[in-house]
Amino acid sequence: MPVYTAPRRDLAFVLFELFEADRLWRAMEATAEVDRDLAEAVIDAGGKLAESAFLPLNASGDAEGCTFEDGSVTTPAGFRDAYAAYAEGGWVGLGGEPEYGGQGMPKMLTVAVEEMFFAANPSLYLYPVLSAGAALLIASHGSEAMKQRWLPEMYAGTTSGTMCLTEAHAGSDLGLLRTRAEPLKDGSHALTGTKIFITGGEHDLAENIVHLVLARLPDAPQGSAGISLFLVPKILDDGERNAVAAGAIEHKMGIRGSATCVLNFDGARGFMIGEPNRGLACMFTMMNYERLSIGMQGLGAGEIAYQNALAYARERLQGRAPVADERSGDAADPLLVHPDVRRMLLTQKAYNEGGRAFAAFVGLQLDLSKHSNDDEEARKAANLVAFLTPVAKTYFTDRGFDGCVLAQQVLGGHGYVVEWGLEQYVRDVRIAQVYEGTNGIQAMDLADRKTARDGGRMAGVYADHIAGCIADPRCPERLRPGLENALESFRRATRELAENSKADPALPGSVAVDYLELTGLVSYAWLWALMVGTAEALRDQEGSDVDFLDGKIAAGEYFHARLLPLATILEQRIATGSTPLAVRAEAL
Ligand SMILES: Cc1cc2nc3c(=O)[nH]c(=O)nc-3n(C[C@H](O)[C@H](O)[C@H](O)COP(=O)(O)OP(=O)(O)OC[C@H]3O[C@@H](n4cnc5c(N)ncnc54)[C@H](O)[C@@H]3O)c2cc1C
Repeated sequence: MPVYTAPRRDLAFVLFELFEADRLWRAMEATAEVDRDLAEAVIDAGGKLAESAFLPLNASGDAEGCTFEDGSVTTPAGFRDAYAAYAEGGWVGLGGEPEYGGQGMPKMLTVAVEEMFFAANPSLYLYPVLSAGAALLIASHGSEAMKQRWLPEMYAGTTSGTMCLTEAHAGSDLGLLRTRAEPLKDGSHALTGTKIFITGGEHDLAENIVHLVLARLPDAPQGSAGISLFLVPKILDDGERNAVAAGAIEHKMGIRGSATCVLNFDGARGFMIGEPNRGLACMFTMMNYERLSIGMQGLGAGEIAYQNALAYARERLQGRAPVADERSGDAADPLLVHPDVRRMLLTQKAYNEGGRAFAAFVGLQLDLSKHSNDDEEARKAANLVAFLTPVAKTYFTDRGFDGCVLAQQVLGGHGYVVEWGLEQYVRDVRIAQVYEGTNGIQAMDLADRKTARDGGRMAGVYADHIAGCIADPRCPERLRPGLENALESFRRATRELAENSKADPALPGSVAVDYLELTGLVSYAWLWALMVGTAEALRDQEGSDVDFLDGKIAAGEYFHARLLPLATILEQRIATGSTPLAVRAEAL
């Protein structure tokens, strides 16, 4: 039976000992009421619900999957009760607007909650987390009437939300989409077309569903400049069923308890959100929010996989410890004594905890961009969010997948069989590298739009921020040279992109994945340096939790010694430019 304990101690370390979040929240009017006690109570309650209601349904939900009959979807046994407990606890609206029934908690805190639920049961959690994203879009771009009509129900979980972008011939390239929206006399629109792969497009958890749909007006320009956004309720205000129905659900490698639907719109009534032809820009509000959330899916998966691998490595006896002092009186020692098993575990721990700190940092920038009283600070934070969102989504999910595979390896053959749960984590987390924009497309967004076309300005602001952290007295002297080298690699790679992409348009795409990896690596490196310094200072205090802090210091040292050197190789790869990829199509 897989184990999972919400990482309460580490979340408290990141939020309050590393970032002093309570001080930051106090400084912003919108979050001034949130103090450490409240935040820890939220994390504790969320952790308990994830452990007690979500986790027990993870394996059974995978085995049973969703079923589809006559346009209706039945979710696996137990999902309805667990969803109801989540919704009734007010969790859907945790970060929602207080005027409409949300709780207004800072993003820095809600990402922590998202990690725990994603770890415990990603299939089940996708339903409410998409609703929270849809509610955010309505709150940002909907009319006042729309907000009053839908937000309270969405925060209460009685109405859920979807995002309907993908069509059979329009995946990464949304400019190709064909769903039509014909104006009706009363100002609403009739939507016709078929969307595929729609998460939570139909289910039995909530009374109603609002679909946020991208479609084209009759006179719309070609491409992405001609896309508008519509809110299409499953059930209309007069109680009538709207002309939108699920045609099928997909049979998938993982997240089998999450219904992935074909949705047919057959003249369905929709209500425009925002301006005509400006729908994609509005949808990006939701997509940015969802991207950080889907990143948390990767992080949560990495954490539960690590916890299970660690528990197994403590128990399983195989082989003798290389160091005589560590040998027990038994015929064999626990797996944990073997350096290669420690390598696998420390790699997971270093990426999970580095990621947790990075998620809190990106969450903080989202809060500052929205709530800071200082315009300059808000603008800088908004730029950092734009630059770092593709990094968070991609780096969390790539490292989360790697971590699940490493954890599976720690269990040897037992990692491959269903009983221990590890193979499910690998299958479930794999989709996070694909949806919400594939990781390749995210890397292009970072390297091309956010760096090459921006002349490297946002990257420069971020590099200066990191340089400031190296100068922070908490950054240990011994970790500074490695960090400085990696930062220089990042600055040189940024210059390469900013200076040479105009002359060589294939350059950003050729090096995008390496550039994103380098950005992720450098991000974790500065955070790890500060975490090691923070842990060392706490360790000197009387009554400190020495095991936790020693683990923190060891993982940070490991990251800097064994993982950070990859920065040099990434820089070398980037320096080779587009040439190695300039292969004639016929030659492949
Ligand atoms: C389980 C599941 C749930 C989903 N949920 C939703 C949902 O709720 N709502 C929704 O709208 N969609 C959803 N999707 C769709 C998902 O977002 C798309 O599958 C994804 O965006 C990729 O589109 P595609 O599958 O058409 O791949 P393609 O766009 O055909 O891409 C195929 C490959 O080519 C690469 N590629 C494509 N274009 C470029 C380019 N210009 N430069 C470099 N590389 C490129 C991609 O990175 C990818 O590796 C879901 C998909 C799945 C499988």
